[in-house]
Amino acid sequence: MIYWDHAATTPPFDEVVDTMSEVMKKHYANPSALHRSGEAAAKLLRRAREVCAASLDVLPSELVFTSGATEGNNMAIKGSAMQYSSRGRHIITTGTEHPSVYECCKQLESLGWEVTYLPVDAAGVIDLDVLKEAVRKDTVLVSIMHVNNESGAIQPLADIGRIVKEVNSRTLFHVDGVQGFGKLPVTISEWQADLYSLSAHKFNGPRGMGVLYVKQGVQLFPLISGGSQENGLRAGTENVAGAVAMSKAMRLSQERQPELYARMMELRELLFQGIRKIPGLVLNSNELDAPHIIHFSYPGLRPEVMVHALEEMGMLISTKSACSSKLSEPSRVLLAMGKSMEVASSGIRISLGKEHQLGDAARFVEVLANACSKLRPIIEREGN
Ligand code: PMP
Repeated sequence: MIYWDHAATTPPFDEVVDTMSEVMKKHYANPSALHRSGEAAAKLLRRAREVCAASLDVLPSELVFTSGATEGNNMAIKGSAMQYSSRGRHIITTGTEHPSVYECCKQLESLGWEVTYLPVDAAGVIDLDVLKEAVRKDTVLVSIMHVNNESGAIQPLADIGRIVKEVNSRTLFHVDGVQGFGKLPVTISEWQADLYSLSAHKFNGPRGMGVLYVKQGVQLFPLISGGSQENGLRAGTENVAGAVAMSKAMRLSQERQPELYARMMELRELLFQGIRKIPGLVLNSNELDAPHIIHFSYPGLRPEVMVHALEEMGMLISTKSACSSKLSEPSRVLLAMGKSMEVASSGIRISLGKEHQLGDAARFVEVLANACSKLRPIIEREGN
């Protein structure tokens, strides 16, 4: 089996699994406890925060440990909306965000907030002039992702940050960084981002662990009340083993990012060449996208059929994103990119990871070509 679903989740580094189990066994004490075991756990947590901060080039005090990016995105969006509602009740985002951003915005709309959903072009990228026009005096937050989880489109974050701050220096800029970290360079200060969320399991770290960067001086209304952990922003006993394991994964991913990027670019080129040659397939990704996400459609075929056909042939792939793959509607992301209903309803995503070798591309293309020729009669039968 070859696993081609790294945008859904990644296998943890061996070091991550070892660290997780070691810390769970040895340092189970509550880091808030006053005894020496508690102090040892607190020290590990402090160290984990320092390592994560160094990987992101930010201050340790600017990081909040979370359960993942769904929580981080909720905390960033609703937390800033509630904190700064006296500045206005307007938010800007795009129509192609992950549900953990999109649904937060929908929820705020139901509470009377105004949300502008910026359109994207055929490549999935926003228009900077439209953004400039959209930022207003009462815009509290702009939330735009780094890399799209379905199409791989990369948003021009440095330009976005510059424009947002030029038009309204008080507007906060949040970046959902989940699909970019470890794959592309991350430059939070250059982007002028105030908030940046990550999920550890997308960069070979543990599941159920994440981090939210909150720029010094930015206040968030806490969504979870209770104890004073995480600067009062996230009450609840800390996941020490998860934090230490995540910090390991962050350091390793950050160190290996340039090498991984170079290998993925080569792999993607081979995959693109192969996919383009298979009759009936429509490639939705392009050379400007992040190299680890490749999206294509087989119009006329329900994408689950392709997932199961490839599974039988030893390849694990996905339809749309894991968070919405159980829904039978067409992809909101592809529709926003102007794709037809047929293309948006037949999307298939493969996503690359550190385990892939160049030879895997040829194997995948061969299997895909075989599957397509076997499935073609089904499309022809159903289509006519
Ligand atoms: N944002 C993006 C872009 C994602 O791809 C995901 C995971 N599918 C999330 C946020 C949410 O991450 P998690 O499920 O780990 O909370």
